[in-house]
Amino acid sequence: MIQALNGTTGVLGIIGNPVSHSRSPVMQNAALQACGLNYVYVPFEVAPDSLGEAVAGLKALGVAGINVTIPYKTEVMKYLDGLDETAVAAGAVNTVNNESGRLIGYNTDGEGLLRALSSDLDFTPHGRTILLIGAGGAARGALAALCRGGARQVIVYNRTHRTAVELVSIMAARYSATRLIALPDITALESALPTVDLVVNATSLGMKGEKIPWLKLELLPHTAKVYDMVYAPPHTELLGESARLGLRAANGLGMLAAQGEGAFSVWTGVTPPSGLMQSVLSGIYDD
Ligand code: NAP
Repeated sequence: MIQALNGTTGVLGIIGNPVSHSRSPVMQNAALQACGLNYVYVPFEVAPDSLGEAVAGLKALGVAGINVTIPYKTEVMKYLDGLDETAVAAGAVNTVNNESGRLIGYNTDGEGLLRALSSDLDFTPHGRTILLIGAGGAARGALAALCRGGARQVIVYNRTHRTAVELVSIMAARYSATRLIALPDITALESALPTVDLVVNATSLGMKGEKIPWLKLELLPHTAKVYDMVYAPPHTELLGESARLGLRAANGLGMLAAQGEGAFSVWTGVTPPSGLMQSVLSGIYDD
C-alpha cells in the first residue's frame, strides 16, 4: 500500500511489453516505503512502435526514473540523452535516470549478477574460469560484468555458435585481461567442464521445467558452483541436478533483487535495506 501521495511525489516505473507479470513494482514500492522516500513506482505497458513517444512523454512529465524490460532494453538506447559505461558494455539499458532533464541509461543487471554470486554462492570471479551458457541479452551483460570482475577466463557456449562468436569478439575488444573462448560444439564443452569454477545459465532453458540436456554437470570439479539466472520457477531442473551432485547452486532471484537495488540507488542515491527486495521476491516466487 502506498501510504501518502502528494504534490511532490516522484514517479518511478517500468516500461516493457508485457509488464503485468513484473514483480518490480512490489519490491521497489516496498523499498521506497521502508526508506520513507516520497516516490511511487508504477508499470507502463508500451505498445510496439510507441517507444520513442513513451520516452519523450516520460521526459516531458518529469518522471524521475524507469526500469526497462523486454523487448525494449536495446531499442531504448537510441532515445536517451546519454549512456553510462555499464550500459555501453552490456549493449542494453535496464535503468534510466532523469538527471536534470537528461535521460541517462544504465545497466544494473551485470552488477546484480556479481552481487548475487557473492551473497548466494560466496563466489568472486577474480582469477577464475567461468562457463557462460547462452549468448543473448542477459549473457552479454553477464559477460561484461564477469570481465570487469577480473575473471581469468570465460568460456561461452550457445546453441547458435555464431552468436557466441560475435559476443566473444565484441567483449574481447573491450576487456583484454580476460581470456574469452566461444566453444564450437558439445564435444568441446565436455572437454572444458573439468576446468570450470562456475557455470552460469543465461539461457531461457528451465523456465518451462526443462533440463539443459547437453550440460553434463558430473564432469565439473566437485568444488564448482552453479548459478541459474532463471528465477521462475525458482526450483529448476538445473538446480535439482546440481543438488543431487552436491554442487552449490542458486537461482536468479538474488540477481533480480540486486539489479533492482542497483536501480533504486541510481534513482534515489539511497541504498535500500539489505535483503528486503530478495525477501519480497522470495515470498512471491516460493512455490
Ligand atoms: P534472449 O536474449 O532471448 O536469449 C536467450 C538465450 O537462450 C539465447 O542464448 C538462446 O540461444 C538460448 N536458448 C533459448 N532457447 C533455447 C533452447 N531451446 N536450447 C538452447 N538454448 C536456448 O533472453 P535473455 O534476455 O538473454 O534471457 C535469458 C534468461 O535469463 C531468461 O531465463 C531470463 O529470465 C533470465 N534473466 C534473468 C535475470 C535475473 O535478474 N535473474 C535478468 C535477465 C535475464 P540461441 O542464441 O541459440 O537462440
